[in-house]
Amino acid sequence: MRHSASLPHAAIDGLDIRDGQLLIGGRKVGDIHAAAGRSPLYVYDTARMTRRVAELREALPQSLHLHYAIKANPLPAVVKHFAGLVDGFDVASAGELQVALAAGMAPGRISFAGPGKSEDELFRAVRAGITIHVESERELGLLAAMARREGCRPAVALRVNPDFQLKTAGMKMGGGAAPFGIDAERIPAVLRGINSLPVDFHGFHIFAGSQNLSASAICEAQELSVALAERLAADAPAPVRVLNIGGGLGIPYFPGEQPLDPRSVGAGLERLAARCRTTLPQAQLVIELGRYLVGEAGFYVCQVVDRKVSRGRVFLVTDGGLHHHLAASGNFGQVIRKNYPVVIGTRMAQSEIEVASVVGPLCTPLDLLADGMLLPVAAPGDLVVVLQSGAYGYSASPLGFLSHPPPQQIVV
Ligand SMILES: *Cc1c(COP(=O)(O)O)cnc(C)c1O
Repeated sequence: MRHSASLPHAAIDGLDIRDGQLLIGGRKVGDIHAAAGRSPLYVYDTARMTRRVAELREALPQSLHLHYAIKANPLPAVVKHFAGLVDGFDVASAGELQVALAAGMAPGRISFAGPGKSEDELFRAVRAGITIHVESERELGLLAAMARREGCRPAVALRVNPDFQLKTAGMKMGGGAAPFGIDAERIPAVLRGINSLPVDFHGFHIFAGSQNLSASAICEAQELSVALAERLAADAPAPVRVLNIGGGLGIPYFPGEQPLDPRSVGAGLERLAARCRTTLPQAQLVIELGRYLVGEAGFYVCQVVDRKVSRGRVFLVTDGGLHHHLAASGNFGQVIRKNYPVVIGTRMAQSEIEVASVVGPLCTPLDLLADGMLLPVAAPGDLVVVLQSGAYGYSASPLGFLSHPPPQQIVV
């Protein structure tokens, strides 16, 4: 059965329901909760991840490499699942590198971007034999010194701070001053110097932004990224072998947002792949995605502890909140707070509804999971489920705040 409540969230469509309960990985949320023994929990559905990658592959050029950006969800079991689905991993710390290697990904398929890499992190990356996305001239200098000491030639790609900006990106990167990458106008000088260093130049990494729901804006940014790489390649000491053009594919979180059509993005990439076969014939084109691959596969489940009515407003007080799911509370980069898609997982078929706010146990008004939302009338014991919670949930939340136990993470 499909849920068809008139709630204005695209993510609510396409949920599976049995006996009035939300199904995750074919199991009733109440059963998952009972088996876990305590709430709150994050539940990750591997079948959804597999389906997502398959649908995307279907739409993308065959020659394109698809990377998973581990920072979206670094749970080892999730990373291990993706190891069998994607062509490579992008890591952003030595900790993520360890998870990537433990998942069985070949070092040649792992890249490491991120500003402010420590000497120790660079050393571990060099030792592991992965590709290092250099974010500054300092990093390049450190790598050259290490290479001389160790007698090796690290694989490097230059992260470029582009001279354009992805339109309507949820999180803007590029186009101005930024701590990410080396300014595009500075790259030719860096490339001319790279020849004398004991490093292997592999190519460029251009990441123009995140959480974009406009296929045309994504295509435009990818085209500008390729054009920039073509210009920069003129000064490169060797043919470009890797061109990572970022990602930025978003998922609908808020009322009124519509999911991206991967076929529109794929059509643009098909044109770019054809163009690169002429202009950068040795370059492997790569896109790197986090939330698009894992966001919709994750569910945050918490339990209603109390139901309070305060001056006419209904509050469902739960055992989960901001400390576990900062993004759903609206405090992870949102400018104007909007509701994530939230359902009462144990009352999916109930027609009696009301306007209620879902809050957590923290002593701050910021601890809000749903603000004045139309929801089925719920009571203590019911399970509240926050959808679209597979990315930037657990690992992007202040788990120590107020010293409640962390949520369990379960893979189904
Ligand atoms: C965070 C990040 C990503 C993943 O972003 P999503 O919005 O989760 O797809 C990809 N590339 C780089 C360089 C990043 O920093």
